[in-house]
Amino acid sequence: MYSRPVLFDQSPTLVDSFSLLQGRRKLAVLFDESGREQVEALMKNMDKVPTASLLVSKDTPSQQISDFVAFQKMGTQICIVAKWDTAYHAFSLAVDEGASEEEIQTLIIDQPKRFIYCMKCFSTSEIPSNESAVQCQCSAHLEVGPFFSKLRKGYIGYPFIPVEQRQTVGS
Ligand SMILES: [Zn+2]
Repeated sequence: MYSRPVLFDQSPTLVDSFSLLQGRRKLAVLFDESGREQVEALMKNMDKVPTASLLVSKDTPSQQISDFVAFQKMGTQICIVAKWDTAYHAFSLAVDEGASEEEIQTLIIDQPKRFIYCMKCFSTSEIPSNESAVQCQCSAHLEVGPFFSKLRKGYIGYPFIPVEQRQTVGS
């Protein structure tokens, strides 16, 4: 089953610096105020490559971003440089307009966010970036699985019984 790509902390689109992807001849850059410096560096490094850019913020209407992406021609690479929330939003709109992960590079200015999908209460919630186990809002202890579900937009969280509780139950 095809699940449309979403931006997550292990997304293959995440980069530290932009490079021209194979077969791409143009760049379409979506950036927020925090990414301005990186965009200027990008323009300098790729001054032979035709580039269109759109400054976005959390107040930018989705339609404006969608139109910008839809207007781009075949062979265009989408570059997103922004803080996580704006990048996430722009990424999903670009995908809605038919962009694939192979055509997108994403540079995050702050930190990627990470989400877990609880196999007990079936809800998705944000988790710290470095924890291997967390407690869900339903109080279940969850092991952060290696599998990211594009459908659930989070890592699959497997319920487990912590050692302390196991001892209580067992005695
Ligand atoms: Zn839960």
